[in-house]
Amino acid sequence: MKVAKFGGTSLASAEQIKKVGAIIQADDQRRLIVVSAPGKRHKDDIKVTDLLIQYADSVLAGGRADQVKEEIFRRFQDIAEGLGLAHDDTEQITAELHEALSIRSSDDPSRFLDAVKAAGEDTCAKLVARYLRSLGKDAHYVNPYEAGLFVTDEAGNAQVLPIAYEKLRALKDRTGIVVFPGFFGYTTEGVLVTFSRGGSDITGSILAAAIQADLYENFTDVDSVYVVNPNLVEKPKEIRVITYREMRELSYSGFTVFHEEALYPAYRAGIPVCIKNTNNPDAPGTMIVSERKADENRVAGIASDKGFCSLYVSKYLMNREIGFGRRLLQILEDEGLSYEHTPSGIDNISVILRRKDFTPEIRERVVQRIRTELHAEDIVIEDDLALVMIVGEGMRRSVGTSARATTALAQAKVNLEMINQGSSEVSMMFGVKEVDADRAVIALYHEFFSKESE
Ligand code: ASP
Repeated sequence: MKVAKFGGTSLASAEQIKKVGAIIQADDQRRLIVVSAPGKRHKDDIKVTDLLIQYADSVLAGGRADQVKEEIFRRFQDIAEGLGLAHDDTEQITAELHEALSIRSSDDPSRFLDAVKAAGEDTCAKLVARYLRSLGKDAHYVNPYEAGLFVTDEAGNAQVLPIAYEKLRALKDRTGIVVFPGFFGYTTEGVLVTFSRGGSDITGSILAAAIQADLYENFTDVDSVYVVNPNLVEKPKEIRVITYREMRELSYSGFTVFHEEALYPAYRAGIPVCIKNTNNPDAPGTMIVSERKADENRVAGIASDKGFCSLYVSKYLMNREIGFGRRLLQILEDEGLSYEHTPSGIDNISVILRRKDFTPEIRERVVQRIRTELHAEDIVIEDDLALVMIVGEGMRRSVGTSARATTALAQAKVNLEMINQGSSEVSMMFGVKEVDADRAVIALYHEFFSKESE
């Protein structure tokens, strides 16, 4: 049995959903289908989830939301019409959507926002189920609460609860095709909570792990995962096979094909994942597995992500001072900050943070406390930092990779702010100025991929 998840562009229009129908019909093992909300039909289009957020924001601000509401309904009605669904079916689905958008907003704004956001996936799943039935398939929409997809009560950032896996296992015994909305679950008390953005990938992974699927297929709009961002390098190499660990590092540092959190359930259950293209389903796609052959490319991919900053703290004899690091991190914890990396020297330590979390007010308080409580000598905050990563299993154990990387970066005139090669078995990380990040990635791509193919 396979779990097949379809992303927003695969469901953006009736035409796209017809391709989804053909893909499901082509393989009887595709019995658990997870859907996103309809995404963009073209570059300048708006995703239904973004329209729903606009709608919720206007309602919460006490304004009129008629226009955006109309647009949301129009999107779904166009799809229903294009799929040739029966009038009664469409009426019922739109009535349910209407009900979902009419819930009270006054009690708890974040719950309201989550409930509205989830209506995109929910309505889409109902449409797809009806469409598959119109093709003669025995397909049914299943609600996440009914199926037992239980999550924590963190609005917009739900985490799956262990009990969910037990409950969801029963989906395996259902006959026919299950169509399941992605992106949200419920608390055990029945409150709807969404995952973080792009979270339908997470739903698919949870279901695949719960039913011990043979394969989790993730259908999107590219033929495969590429070794580098295709917006930076023309026609980069495709990745055929990659390990969970490599994929995790790449999605951490900017690869957006697959949600960062989505890998974990599949990884834990050992379910292979295949990234495929709805617009070209015959292409082999990218397989994500637990191990790959050592003789395959040592470097799997090169990624970069912007929006970081570093907090540098130095104090003479820091290495002798018991508890310095803990107290520094405690100050950050008190501000609710999660840190990304902590490269350190004898008498200094840098903490890498996401810039959006490290607001001016927080900075002021943190610097003040470091000065008065830790008696640090230097405290320097550097903004505009990007992290560039070379990712590949076994790469660190092979001679010369870092020399090749730093030489390539030097030739591209990229100044390295930081190198972190210490802890990870699968990646090498360089901190560079944001303006240099793209150049760094391109230089590394040429070093490790175009040269090797010559
Ligand atoms: N529709 C949601 C979003 O745009 C979730 C998803 O597509 O995976 O974030």
